[in-house]
Amino acid sequence: MTPTALDTRYIYDFVEEPPGGRELLGGKGLGLSEMMRLGLPVPRGFTVTTDASRAYMETGAFPADLDEQLEDALERLERATGTRFGSSEKPLLVSVRSGAAISMPGMMDSILDLGLSDSAAEGMSRTTGNAQFAYDSYRRLIQMYGEVVEGIDAERFEHALSTLKHERGVLEDTELDGSDLRELVRRYKRIYRDALGHEFPQDARAQLRAAVEAVFRSWENPRARTYRQLNDIPGSIGTAVNVVQMVFGNAGTRSASGVAFSRDPASGGRDPHGEFLLDAQGEDVVAGIRAPQPLERLQDELPAAYTELKSALNALERRYRDVQDVEFTIEEGALFILQTRSAKRTAAAALRIAIDMVDEGLISREEAVLRIDPSMLEHVLHPMIDTRATVTAAATGVPASPGAAVGAVVFTADEAARRSVREPVILVRFDTTPDDIHGLAAAQGVLTAHGGMASHAAVVARGMGKPCVAGCDALQIDESTGTCTLGSVTVREGETITIDGSTGRAIVGAAPLVVPDSSPDLDIVLAWADAFRTLGVRANADTPADAARARAFGAEGIGLVRTEHMFFGEERLPVVQEMILAADETARRAALERLLPFQQADFEGIFDTMRGLPVTIRLLDPPLHEFLPAETDATSERMRERIRALRETNPMLGTRGCRLGLQWPEIYEMQVRAIARAAKAVAARTGEPPRVEIMHPLIAYAEELHRLRDLTEHVMDDEAPGVPYLCGTMIELPRAALRAADIAPYADFFSFGTNDLTQTALGMSRDDAEGKFLAAYLERGVIEHDPFATLDREGVGELVALGTSRGRSVKPELEVGICGEHGGDPDSIAFCHHAGLDYVSCSPFRVPVARLAAAQAALAERGTTYEVAGG
Ligand code: PEP
Ligand code: MG
Repeated sequence: MTPTALDTRYIYDFVEEPPGGRELLGGKGLGLSEMMRLGLPVPRGFTVTTDASRAYMETGAFPADLDEQLEDALERLERATGTRFGSSEKPLLVSVRSGAAISMPGMMDSILDLGLSDSAAEGMSRTTGNAQFAYDSYRRLIQMYGEVVEGIDAERFEHALSTLKHERGVLEDTELDGSDLRELVRRYKRIYRDALGHEFPQDARAQLRAAVEAVFRSWENPRARTYRQLNDIPGSIGTAVNVVQMVFGNAGTRSASGVAFSRDPASGGRDPHGEFLLDAQGEDVVAGIRAPQPLERLQDELPAAYTELKSALNALERRYRDVQDVEFTIEEGALFILQTRSAKRTAAAALRIAIDMVDEGLISREEAVLRIDPSMLEHVLHPMIDTRATVTAAATGVPASPGAAVGAVVFTADEAARRSVREPVILVRFDTTPDDIHGLAAAQGVLTAHGGMASHAAVVARGMGKPCVAGCDALQIDESTGTCTLGSVTVREGETITIDGSTGRAIVGAAPLVVPDSSPDLDIVLAWADAFRTLGVRANADTPADAARARAFGAEGIGLVRTEHMFFGEERLPVVQEMILAADETARRAALERLLPFQQADFEGIFDTMRGLPVTIRLLDPPLHEFLPAETDATSERMRERIRALRETNPMLGTRGCRLGLQWPEIYEMQVRAIARAAKAVAARTGEPPRVEIMHPLIAYAEELHRLRDLTEHVMDDEAPGVPYLCGTMIELPRAALRAADIAPYADFFSFGTNDLTQTALGMSRDDAEGKFLAAYLERGVIEHDPFATLDREGVGELVALGTSRGRSVKPELEVGICGEHGGDPDSIAFCHHAGLDYVSCSPFRVPVARLAAAQAALAERGTTYEVAGG
């Protein structure tokens, strides 16, 4: 029947112009229909829309009319192909393939060769004169249908196949002849009957209906769910289903199946790449049953089809203006394209391809900049395993934080801290908690058996710019014997392993690493990005070495120097402890006097490195107890007493930041004095004063900043009159954001400390939330993103926007930045752009990410967009 206006149309033939895009047809369906209209060789077929799948998910049944529409579509397909579905004469066979709006490769199910039955297989064998081909197709159908529709264990079929091969004394599937395969079909049907108590269905239409339903269901299989969670794909969108006329790559030696990329997805090189198998169906290539041949060899084997394929790849690139990843089948020398989609590529290839396509006039610079996923850039800049080396992974897990690292295996954070003094270590744990933070800090990288992208280990490692492989199922740790097993290999504590957080590999032994210092391609694309962005990019750096790296990556200043990190050095810690334990101000000043030269030298180093660019120095902020030993390790009664006196139940909200500076002003005085002297020395040495910005942390009340500004001015006037500087504040408490108009008169700049602002706005302790309930929140979908990684736009973001506008309402020239972790997160950077901030500040490795993300935000605002092409 023809659907009336009241009916929902659930099916579109590839040949028609559909009314919707990928949201309706899925990527694969849209690609097939577009290719059909481009005149490329595509098999006939139709797409069952995502509307149907959503309706199925809601009710657990086919929506009304779907059966009728399926029947109509089949009839049209029969007419177009001159074949009949279920007939034994010239049977129409179809594949039923999933295809969501966002590509989820291999996560859902597909079934091939539907429409075969005992009589159809016999008919096909007769008409083609090729029993091997007919029965090979039939046995594939029984297996796939058995597995996907009925849930029969694949192992049972595999076992029957290898038994038969053994009996026949052959190694390859293709060595089984027609009568062998007829026998195999007999055995497969028995497996089917034994498992289910009924025969394999002989009615083609019943097969089709069950297959469509099974593909709908596969949207909810655990693999697909996990993939969606990892890739932020909403569960509500559902999948389309494509019913496609079968073409046969397994019809003999003039037939083949393969995948082809229009350019090299690893290097970005311009020649097509890929692989194929002669006389095979597509899933053989994916499953790695036989070793496929490189695509170039197709030129010798089937030259006409190869030429046609090359020109199809060309046409697709021109149409989609992006590298395409194509599935193809050649049946008796005739080429068919079964799918096209934008190719996944390495970061290096993404850059190369974008640059080449600009040169070729295919895309503009704006598009080139929009096309590159900012978070991918981290891969270009971290150490990686030398691609020329052959390495074997003993196990794999979730690639949770990019880069590779080599080190000795340790199983506890304490051991990591101890051993890392002598040699590089990899922390190997079931999972990590905030208690392991010192081990994470000491290790080169971390490998966990449990958790994923949002696990504590992953989040902390990404923050630290260290590699992390998480959720490595094949890792088992036996702390009692000091060993772990990686897959089948046992590794003792102290033995060397390599982890690759870009790919998820864990390798026994030391793999050779290369450190890509910079990449010329990256520099080109970032230079384009810089021309588009309006948001400044600074870095958080505490040492001259970090500052130098940040500058090399393109940082336009330092947005945060955490001075407490300078207090931990071996020579310094005892003096810091002396300062904290001092009985009175005189003793405290004496200790501070000895710390001053250290600080001054640190500041001079950073000023020198950042010559001409702003350096924002934050005065001391940590809870004091961090510098003191555990009470049990105290060396005197007085020390024990002080430790007890300084103990706080929630030190993150205790005597921190400006509260410390107001209680013991001599500490901040010393720090400002060190800054002043360093600035003076550098100005004298270079003839150019550094651009100093002095920043006060954890301000809640305007009066706090008022007093600390007085202190700052007083010391600066005293030490370095005439040396220019700015004095400003962090905004990291909700009260400060709300009362920004009171605070701004005392501040030359604001810098949002969104780590603390998130912690205090949400009432979630930074150290306690992540490993604990937050992981469960993310897993159960209570919230979509870790608020400590991606700014909570509606809550914390509103405080940022409010603080900015209230601050500028009284001081329009107020400089505003952000220096929390969010400053390196692309989504948060986009928010900062829209909120009108002047700059973001992030860890040095993320500076390129931030430059690109800032450019993308600016382009998006101008309305320039880029849509992923194909399936
Ligand atoms: C912040 O709170 O966002 C910040 C940058 O300071 P810290 O992380 O040192 O508390
Ligand atoms: Mg803070």
